[in-house]
Amino acid sequence: MGVFDDLVGQERAAQTLRRAAAAAAEVLAGGSGAGMTHAWLFTGPPGSGREEAARAFAAALFCADGGCGHCDMCHQVMVGSHPDLETVRPQGLSYGIKDTRQLILRAAGAPTLGRWRVVLFEDADRATEGASNALLKAIEEPPPRTVWLLCAPSPDDMMITIRSRCRVVTLVTPPVAAVAHVLATRENVPPDMAAFAARAAQGHLDRARRLALDADARGRRESVLSIPASLTGVGECVAAAERLVKTAEEEAAAVTSVLDEAETAELRKVYGEGSTGKGLNKGLVRGGAGALKELEERQKSRATRTKRDVIDAALLDLVTFYRDVLAVQFGAQGVELATEDRRADLEKVARSSTPEDNLRRIDAIMLCRRRLAANVSPQMAVEAMTLSLRSPRLLP
Ligand SMILES: [Zn+2]
Repeated sequence: MGVFDDLVGQERAAQTLRRAAAAAAEVLAGGSGAGMTHAWLFTGPPGSGREEAARAFAAALFCADGGCGHCDMCHQVMVGSHPDLETVRPQGLSYGIKDTRQLILRAAGAPTLGRWRVVLFEDADRATEGASNALLKAIEEPPPRTVWLLCAPSPDDMMITIRSRCRVVTLVTPPVAAVAHVLATRENVPPDMAAFAARAAQGHLDRARRLALDADARGRRESVLSIPASLTGVGECVAAAERLVKTAEEEAAAVTSVLDEAETAELRKVYGEGSTGKGLNKGLVRGGAGALKELEERQKSRATRTKRDVIDAALLDLVTFYRDVLAVQFGAQGVELATEDRRADLEKVARSSTPEDNLRRIDAIMLCRRRLAANVSPQMAVEAMTLSLRSPRLLP
């Protein structure tokens, strides 16, 4: 089973990448290698597996067998230890020019193992303008064996000058049935749970996996989806907003604290902290304090980003709920709704509102997402939203 077989519902993209990997092998053999190019942009909605597709392609470039999935090269790529693969995963809200310049220098080196040097840039849309310009120059004049794999939600998220120099690989939201099948066959999830998780996650594979395997994740979704039917008074709106933000904070803290502790411990070890300090090089101690401070800032930025991402995911669950209410109001027959498990709430909200109300509610949620992206305090933005959800007609 090859590396591309792991991509769920992406037959077209896999076809393109298989051909390109074959062409890349031709280049190495001295041929023309039409079909291979040195800059790629992987786009697709969250959960479509952009990074997974890029990683599979990297494996196919390194593997003598076009991505067999079981040789040393393929394995090293999958666990992230291949010396010629550099993975960039921006931790904060943006990726700056200083980091980008260092990355470009590293990318310019000759491949250690003689095939390619590959940079896999996750969330490349987080590159700042300065960083993007530096990146553009690197892509315009690439060293002969360097391949850039950029990942972003859509081509529009990248500067047009970068986009036009990349071959775009478009990934699609995998069908619900394909996601359910993967959960059942690869994760041993019982069929009923697999079907529920795939439907609730609307083709977002990671999220479906979390919902299927993690009872806490299911509990958080329950808590978010119980909001619409609970907004009976102003007090309830305020309480619901508080609950949503607090749940997001807890989830984000659970994700980031594990990472933070490991990184901090690692850094302290590097700078020799924990020893008596006697005879410790003073410059090293000062360097350690600086590095620690830098790490703390990075961690803070990551925590903010994680919290924002978690709230955003909750808001998208709410959008799905109101879309399903609209489907109920328009009498959609035979469609399995993403929030089918909240059927009673869907019908209750559908009975007590007009389709226009629910369109306005969706607008209110989108407004809240924009406010959060613009750094409005989560508590304020979410509270304004729950109040609008209760009285959609008061919206301008
Ligand atoms: Zn292989």
